[in-house]
Amino acid sequence: MFLSIVVPCCNEEEGLREFHRQMTVAARKLCGEKFELILVDDGSTDNTWKVINELSAKDFNVVAVRLARNHGHQLALTAGLSTVRGDLVLVIDADLQDPPELLTPMYDLMVREEADVVYGLRRSRAGESRFKKKSAEAFYRLLANLTRVNIPVDTGDFRLMSRRISDQVVQMPEHDRFIRGMVAWLGFKQVAYEYDRNARYAGTTKYPLIKMIGFATDALISFSMLPLRIATYIGALLTTILTFVGAGAVISWILSGTVPGWTSLTLLVVMISSVQLLVLGLIGEYVGRTYIQSKNRPLFMISHIHSRVSSDVEEQAQLVNESSR
Ligand code: UDP
Ligand code: MG
Repeated sequence: MFLSIVVPCCNEEEGLREFHRQMTVAARKLCGEKFELILVDDGSTDNTWKVINELSAKDFNVVAVRLARNHGHQLALTAGLSTVRGDLVLVIDADLQDPPELLTPMYDLMVREEADVVYGLRRSRAGESRFKKKSAEAFYRLLANLTRVNIPVDTGDFRLMSRRISDQVVQMPEHDRFIRGMVAWLGFKQVAYEYDRNARYAGTTKYPLIKMIGFATDALISFSMLPLRIATYIGALLTTILTFVGAGAVISWILSGTVPGWTSLTLLVVMISSVQLLVLGLIGEYVGRTYIQSKNRPLFMISHIHSRVSSDVEEQAQLVNESSR
């Protein structure tokens, strides 16, 4: 068994050496030297790439991958997955929120259950604001209600999976990626491993509110058409109500001539136009994504790959970039 560990890193210079130390201990415990630690620099603006190079210079197991710019967490993860050589793949964040030492118990569970995926289910989340915890909780439940795909709640990207799963994820051509949902969509046997999430070891979260909203919108739109259906229902409801309002207006005109109706007219215009704009925006979200997807651009650009284990991976960047199309 050869294990590939994929770690997206964006401005993680302060914690990366400690992550490398802990992850290496955990990986050696499970598979001796038969593993690779793929550190993907997602266009960091600090010294992350320097630290990654330093680590790869002294450790044969490190594979250093650099993206040509910041592509975001999900694409950085996909880029890492596209370079794996192992038969087993662990996805983990660089900030030590997901404990590396859980690798062995997760693997044991995978073997025991004959599962293709063991995903980390967050029992608790230390060091995160009440707002983040509550909003994440609400989001996962909303998503579960809106989609038919069985996406587990309170689950991030921390997971151990077989190579066939990770290869399938890389081959899915969608640009707006919600990898935890894409893995769930694949099916096969997937089991949960409950754990307590630590606080960040160093640095700050790379998911400020605005990115969280964007990520949640991507997830909802990628995995559900229900918002569009709800818009249709709202349209049908408004049409019914307005038919009665219209009939009332005609009847009162017949009975008593014109009526003073400035307030009701204004209310109607405001109500209908705001619902129309909202629904137009919603449709725009779907159409915009279809437009971006139709350009068929590659998902990411890798600028460098170094590994001291095998020289062939150094030339892999071009190939990987081509296959990411
Ligand atoms: N990350 C990345 N690119 C980005 C944002 C984040 O590669 O544009 C990485 C980050 O370095 C970390 C992981 O994705 O290893 C998760 O990010 P973070 O810990 O900031 O998210 P949180 O745990 O706060 O939700
Ligand atoms: Mg984190």
